[in-house]
Amino acid sequence: MLKKFSFFFLFVFLVFALAQETVATLQVEKKGGIDYIDGIDLGKKLKMQIFWQSEADILQIGTSLWAWGNEWASIKDTSFLLQSPVQNKINSKRSFWLPFPSSLPVFERMLNKPLEYDSASAKIITIMPKEFKDKDIWSVNLDEKNNGEVLELKLLKPFIVEPLYAHPNYILRLNGASIDNPAFQDLAKKSALISRVIPIQDEQSAQLTLTLKDNCEKPELVKKDSGKTLQIVLRKKQPAIPKAELAPQAVNSAGKKTKTIVIDPGHGGKDPGAIGHNGLKEKEVVLSVGLKLKKNLEEKGFTVKLTRSNDEFVELAQRPKMANDWGGDLFISLHCDAVAGKERQQKTDGFKFYILRAGGSEEDKAIARRENQAIALESDKKGKNEISPADWIRLDNQLALYAEKSALLAGYLVEAFDGGSLKKLQTGAGQAGFFVLVGAYMPAVLAELGFITSPTDGAFLATEKGQNEIAERLTKAITSFAK
Ligand SMILES: [Zn+2]
Repeated sequence: MLKKFSFFFLFVFLVFALAQETVATLQVEKKGGIDYIDGIDLGKKLKMQIFWQSEADILQIGTSLWAWGNEWASIKDTSFLLQSPVQNKINSKRSFWLPFPSSLPVFERMLNKPLEYDSASAKIITIMPKEFKDKDIWSVNLDEKNNGEVLELKLLKPFIVEPLYAHPNYILRLNGASIDNPAFQDLAKKSALISRVIPIQDEQSAQLTLTLKDNCEKPELVKKDSGKTLQIVLRKKQPAIPKAELAPQAVNSAGKKTKTIVIDPGHGGKDPGAIGHNGLKEKEVVLSVGLKLKKNLEEKGFTVKLTRSNDEFVELAQRPKMANDWGGDLFISLHCDAVAGKERQQKTDGFKFYILRAGGSEEDKAIARRENQAIALESDKKGKNEISPADWIRLDNQLALYAEKSALLAGYLVEAFDGGSLKKLQTGAGQAGFFVLVGAYMPAVLAELGFITSPTDGAFLATEKGQNEIAERLTKAITSFAK
């Protein structure tokens, strides 16, 4: 009798469990009639990957991206409008606070099951998740991004993985695995970067061959979950920066008027920046130009903020954060270029304006690495001076929003400097991974105002006259852009 009885309860329990399941009990703060859920806590409870990109204040939960102050969350090729921006502080508690229930569809999409949010009990409830078949590669997912794709394979257990790249083929061998997932069949159809997918099974191993299209760069393999998740990061080759179109409607079409300009004089304090052979310090030149530019722009009626107005050290990640806090509409980081070696210093000069974008030339990347070195002076950071391919994919939210306008701004700057006292370095515009531009939610440009190591540029940059001319040309470009 007792046995029968307990079987009955087990049966009832199972039916109930199949029908409904509490996915997570949440950390909630209420403010202004909105429920805010602690995103870090939620990600952990959902057992999702959490990655806080501290330079950009972007939190990645699973495949979704969240940024402080941003009212959009993005996943795959879809953006979700939230009922309020993501907050960094609610009721004096710091975290990534996600507004609910408007954030729920993002998690629904990631977990691939319908969810409900119950405000009274602060719980997320769902029906039972779909069973997956007992196979080694149990999930194959292709995430489309603006600047590439991520092919994610979920494995039942870690396998020894051997990637091999021989253009145009990328081959992944998984020793001891089986590869019978039907999702491989139509993968190429869904992808803009893969033309063919061939899964091959032999006795010892599984082999996946991806034939890549010409517009795909060398893939990067990222292992997660102790090797149980494999991500093949496929990055699209980026087109060259377009020339500025002078049609004013192109500037105005993106909505918000340019009112607040944030000027970021590079380096400062313990970080002198580059040093010219007459002892001229980059940090001094750019501060002086920054102060002149501020004065000019204020005369034109702009609100102008400086990330530093004296000789102090400001961390790279702080600078765009300040710009966001001020509600900036345009961010310009001022720098001077430098090269080593007497002979090169004699003949290398000119200005160049950079935007944040992957796939620049080797020279552009080298300049970004030099400017990114300041991070080594920051107490808690390691010597990382480059943005990884995987980070680029994560940045696509910001890149998609502002890349075009940043390129347009760079175009106006090149035009304003053309024919001036400084020469143009190459085309005058470039692209690379400058940390100081990461996380600025506005059009952003890094200006290399000339080579401090060049005898001609160096002399010009050192003088009042030279600095005035530079400030005037910057003013002209910014005013044209803001029209
Ligand atoms: Zn610099």
